[in-house]
Amino acid sequence: MNPEALLAAPSLENQFPLEFHNGFRIATLAFWCLSCDKAIPLAKVHGHVGSIMKSVVDVTAAASCPCGHLNRYRIRLHDDATCTYLKNGEWVTEGKGNANKLSLFGRLRLQLLFLWIRWKCYWLARTLRIIQRDFREKHGLPHDG
Ligand SMILES: [Zn+2]
Repeated sequence: MNPEALLAAPSLENQFPLEFHNGFRIATLAFWCLSCDKAIPLAKVHGHVGSIMKSVVDVTAAASCPCGHLNRYRIRLHDDATCTYLKNGEWVTEGKGNANKLSLFGRLRLQLLFLWIRWKCYWLARTLRIIQRDFREKHGLPHDG
């Protein structure tokens, strides 16, 4: 599919979190411009998420970056927490199996992703605490710290 047609498809934003049949869950995917390396928000990435096998999810997407580069992504996510993607015409595998072989850049990206997820979790936990506190106050229950 050509990038223009992919850009006309819905954004990937509503496709995540993604859950496999074995329970493995992917909260979100981080996308980078393949030319200038800036992060591209999921809402700006358009394309399709499909599954031919229970254990595999294929992501075909495109995103146009403010730098002018039109990015194309072909990513294959597996339920064993590995992922394969098309880079310069070759399939590259990343994940737990060859975590040590991850480039410094790949590791940095993963760390950024984890930081982002932790940050999200922090805000979620904080919101929950506020809701719980309000609930206790409304019902006159004691605080537990
Ligand atoms: Zn760019």
